[in-house]
Amino acid sequence: MTTDFIKLGLPGIQGLRPYQAGKPIDELKREMGITKVIKLASNENPIGPGSKSLDAIKQVLAELALYPDGSGFALKQKLVEKFALKADEITLGNGSSEIFTLLLRCYVSDQNEVVYSQHGFALYSILTRSVGATPVVIPAINRGHDLDAMVAAINDKTALVFIANPNNPTGTYLSKAAIKGFMEKVPEHVIVVLDEAYAEYVEQEDYANGLELVGQYKNLVVTRTFSKAYGLAALRIGYGVSNTQVADMMNRVREPFNVNSLALVAAEAALDDDAHLEKSRRCNREGIQQLVEGFNKMGLEYIPTVGNFISVNVGRDATDVYQDLLKHGMIVRPIGGDYELPKFLRVTIGLPEQNKAFLDALAKVLS
Ligand SMILES: *Cc1c(COP(=O)(O)O)cnc(C)c1O
Repeated sequence: MTTDFIKLGLPGIQGLRPYQAGKPIDELKREMGITKVIKLASNENPIGPGSKSLDAIKQVLAELALYPDGSGFALKQKLVEKFALKADEITLGNGSSEIFTLLLRCYVSDQNEVVYSQHGFALYSILTRSVGATPVVIPAINRGHDLDAMVAAINDKTALVFIANPNNPTGTYLSKAAIKGFMEKVPEHVIVVLDEAYAEYVEQEDYANGLELVGQYKNLVVTRTFSKAYGLAALRIGYGVSNTQVADMMNRVREPFNVNSLALVAAEAALDDDAHLEKSRRCNREGIQQLVEGFNKMGLEYIPTVGNFISVNVGRDATDVYQDLLKHGMIVRPIGGDYELPKFLRVTIGLPEQNKAFLDALAKVLS
């Protein structure tokens, strides 16, 4: 007898395709036999981590034989001080994406629906289907979230709503008034995940800082990450802030040592490194300006962004343009497929010379 171990698996998982990450630099070097590669595909911080985080990591290298502090006490204390939170509202995760997984595990079954927006982050769809729940994808409005339509889609089966603010890959954002208006209308039995992976980059005055809203809405869970502005993507650390009961539930299912020691100390140090964060923001602001000017010169449409990436309309199948850019040693991200923007490339804001190299390569490829 031969068993088909795909068919043996749970129905929700049988239909999945793995998350497609940005192409690794070394893979392209191997494939093309080239040595110079620039990757602007995964919204990583081009400056890298701050020196305070690196120093903190060196301190714990001597203790690698020991399990990490499974409660993350010191990091939670730092978050409490910095953002006026309560420690038992905080859940630490192996990346903020682990917080999504924990929430689905606690609150979403195969009888439920999960609501999110068209052009939303690919992980929302994968995670929803992995638990056998039904995705309800709401058409975007002006390439951002249509919050009214999202409210209207909520019914008795709805367990959870994902909102990315800013949204990846479009770079659009929602104001505090819009988020508050939305939360007022969402029934309390529906968990709202406000994914603020790029919050640190946003400079708009009317941006909704979710951490200030958690106290007001019991069903709101805000997620933040150290992967983007803090430059610690490799370490995998993020957190959720929610009412204490939701945090209690997540704490019951998380693995005892889900966040490693290096990540804990690096994140703690990063929260004290305002100079590094400011440098990252400035680099991003100037990089957006540089790319926008380049797109304007080429007459290319782009989606105005508040994140550390920008999506640009290349006027034809962006996957072809992506492939051609690879030949120039340039890795970006085509966002057709599930993202439904087939003529757009998403490019991470890089260092000035990286942005210039991208613009030069793009001009060549499009000429
Ligand atoms: C990068 C990103 C995250 C963060 O992922 P981590 O698991 O924290 O590295 C979450 N949401 C969106 C929309 C992202 O782009």
